[in-house]
Amino acid sequence: MQFSAKVSDISKQRNACAIISADAKNRFSASGTALDQATNGFIGKVLKRGDLGSKLGSTLLLNLVDGPAERVLLVRGGDGILSQAEFRKLAKASANGVKGYKDATSYLTELEVTDADSAWQAQQLALAAGLATYKFTRCHSEAKGNPLAKFTVHAPERKQLKAVQRGVELGAAQAAGSNVARELGNLPGNICTPTYLASEARALAKKHAKLTTTVLDEKKMQSLGMGAFLSVSKGSDQPPALIAMQYKGGKAGDKPVVLVGKGITFDTGGISLKPGLQMDEMKFDMCGAASVFGVMNALLELQPAINVVGLVAAAENMPSGRASKPGDIVTSMSGKTIEILNTDAEGRLVLCDTLTYAAKYKPEVVIDVATLTGACVIALGNHATGLYANKDELAAELLAAGERTGDRAWQMPLWDEYQSSLDSNFADIQNIGGREAGSVTAACFLARFAEDYTWAHLDIAGSAWNSGGAKGATGRPVPLLVEYLLGK
Ligand code: MG
Ligand code: ZN
Repeated sequence: MQFSAKVSDISKQRNACAIISADAKNRFSASGTALDQATNGFIGKVLKRGDLGSKLGSTLLLNLVDGPAERVLLVRGGDGILSQAEFRKLAKASANGVKGYKDATSYLTELEVTDADSAWQAQQLALAAGLATYKFTRCHSEAKGNPLAKFTVHAPERKQLKAVQRGVELGAAQAAGSNVARELGNLPGNICTPTYLASEARALAKKHAKLTTTVLDEKKMQSLGMGAFLSVSKGSDQPPALIAMQYKGGKAGDKPVVLVGKGITFDTGGISLKPGLQMDEMKFDMCGAASVFGVMNALLELQPAINVVGLVAAAENMPSGRASKPGDIVTSMSGKTIEILNTDAEGRLVLCDTLTYAAKYKPEVVIDVATLTGACVIALGNHATGLYANKDELAAELLAAGERTGDRAWQMPLWDEYQSSLDSNFADIQNIGGREAGSVTAACFLARFAEDYTWAHLDIAGSAWNSGGAKGATGRPVPLLVEYLLGK
């Protein structure tokens, strides 16, 4: 999909679709007024008829408008200055309204939004358009993607063009990265295996000079003493992979940000087998890993002058005669021994060894991303990602990045008081706490392996995919992470 920004005179544009808004009192912004004049008041007449709903974000498509635009998508704005959340609603609604046409120009940048300039607006519009256009077609015999191939954002003034352009680029890259993550997330477990993820990472490195990929196989992991990681993969016929993608945009000496993604390509729960209902959704248990791929893709597009390492902990969690059993005790790479009380708490087992491994990059910051706990879904639902950090400054930066891009997180406590629920009679630590505060105790488990650096953990079990009719990966938290990294 092609994104661009330009100062677009609506009476001269020749797009398949122009997006304009009308406020609660049926008033247009500048381009809407110009278009209304160019159509001899036709658009205003339609509005007076009351065909456009009064709810913010309602849309109405006008076809065969006798004037410069082939189609016009009318979007209902608000009463006065919009909040950022309201503008996002308009961006989303209008993107869904135009995704069926081959190109569109949005004039919504003419609206006023609290604490946001037109660059921010452009970013939101491009992000929404890129996300709306995505469709999973790979496993259908005849499905076609959405036709929208060209999306233009209008810059209200020439002096804003550069900033609007930059906003469009950022939003487009966040959307493209999210869509990479969605595609990997949506792929079924019989296609998207650890080996498949490794080959994707190798292919990405082949295409881009600034990226190198190395893959640690089972043997290498064994020699590093990754007993926790391998306790998860050993029940499966699919070999595990620890994938390292290094993006080198900064100077050689610049400390990298290391992203760690949980990549359980299918989680049956292992011997602690999950119930059957919705078990298919456990193909999404690699969405953390998918988001790391998404971020890498966005970085390759934007080429920022920073160093970022993406580590993907890929394994399949299966029950078998070789699988780990409840009560088994394993030794992690850190030397800490772990009693596995529940084989379905496997994410933290692959992640803890990967967090130990991450130290070798001498990171400035490490952020892991994981569909870690059902408890996080109970706590926050699917709107907010659960955020934990061992430094409040990092937490604040990530929260702010999420707010800016509309991919929000909420900080949860990583207090010492919770740690004792992980005490084991038989090993240094057990892999689950009790029924209470399950997302917190999972984070507490990881914290013990991340003591040597500044670290945050994003529990995306609620935000990474939708269930029901809209079942599918969301691509979160790619926008949040890209926003954070670009702000560095
Ligand atoms: Mg599990
Ligand atoms: Zn899992």
